[in-house]
Amino acid sequence: MSSTTTSAGADAGPARRLEVLFEELSELTGQRNAIDGRIVEIVAEVERDDLWGSTGARSIPALVAWKTGVSPANAETIAAVAHRIEEFPHCTQGLREGRVSLDQVGVIAQRAADGSDEHYAQLVEVATVSQLRTAIKLEPRPDPDRRGPQPSITKTGDAEFDFWRITLPHAESAVFAAALQSHRDALIAEWTHDRDNSDGTADQHPPMPTQVDAFLRLVQAGWDGEVQRRPHGQHTTVVVHLDINQQIGALHLGPLLADAERQYLTCDATCEVWFERDGQVIGAGRSTRTINRRLRRALEHRDRTCTVPGCGATRGLHAHHIQHWEDGGPTELANLVLVCPYHHRLHHRGIITITGNAANLTITDRAGRPLSAASLARLPKKPPPAVKPCPGPTGERAQWWWYQPFQPQPPPTTNQN
Ligand SMILES: [Zn+2]
Ligand SMILES: [Zn+2]
Repeated sequence: MSSTTTSAGADAGPARRLEVLFEELSELTGQRNAIDGRIVEIVAEVERDDLWGSTGARSIPALVAWKTGVSPANAETIAAVAHRIEEFPHCTQGLREGRVSLDQVGVIAQRAADGSDEHYAQLVEVATVSQLRTAIKLEPRPDPDRRGPQPSITKTGDAEFDFWRITLPHAESAVFAAALQSHRDALIAEWTHDRDNSDGTADQHPPMPTQVDAFLRLVQAGWDGEVQRRPHGQHTTVVVHLDINQQIGALHLGPLLADAERQYLTCDATCEVWFERDGQVIGAGRSTRTINRRLRRALEHRDRTCTVPGCGATRGLHAHHIQHWEDGGPTELANLVLVCPYHHRLHHRGIITITGNAANLTITDRAGRPLSAASLARLPKKPPPAVKPCPGPTGERAQWWWYQPFQPQPPPTTNQN
């Protein structure tokens, strides 16, 4: 419809015009709901059959936002309904048939308990989004105290001391205990050495190191290491040994690296690379390869976000050499682009390709299709879905006094203990 006034005409009274407008709104709402229902089905199929891995998108909601041009919040709703489409057959049926909106079903898909499809199938047809939120909030939640303690670090204190309480699962606790022990051993070795080399005035000796000393030494060591590793606030901290004759890389005190992994780690050159020939160290780093602060700032100014279309990540970006420096690629603006760690890894694993130069970049997915930031929106070729008009929820005043919230079934117990 191309006219901007109602078919009732501008002369008709306001009541009549509104009536006609609402009729059209109701018809469009029904169609939009049905279209959203189909979009949800498509997203569910993409997720179920794992079709999105090759697109270069970092998640299903990111893919939806990218390809349909909707906001991240809207994309989250679509992805949430798609993810639980099989758990909520009745509610999503209402969407496909145009009777309920994406946001109504979205509230249910994002928060409602398992097995509640039939319970909400009736309510969703009449309740508004906020009424549905209230109904779901009334679902009894598992008692948080019954889940037992969660891993945590908490701090309380009085005038003199702070009290730290660290709750860890056994595995992490064992790592912590071992770290503490090794620092205490080191302190005791130092303490013994000092005592044995002193002139024998025993009362001048510091007391034997305690667990607290060991803990503080552990913190200090971690802190120093961190500062050393991040001189420019950069991120990569890995030490890589590279045999330049054989192009073999290995992590410091660690395993050999696959080609893709080696190129990924050494690409942005903020890791520390030790060059070796026949097992002999011949140097560490190479100044022309290192991205200095100035170059990094210029790169950030130019690219702002991850350059992979549809990504937009701004944090922890890596400077990727379009032609790897191992293959003679220069460390200069034209050969560098910023990418997020996720897409950087995806590229070095061969799932997306980045070619050209910074001014004229081509990024393709695994099938060689160029990625573009644009949404897929275009004028429809098919008629709109043939569904009944949807007047929206009745929004009747809710009688919460009489409302019976959904009661999740307790999980089946196995009587083994
Ligand atoms: Zn790279
Ligand atoms: Zn990215």
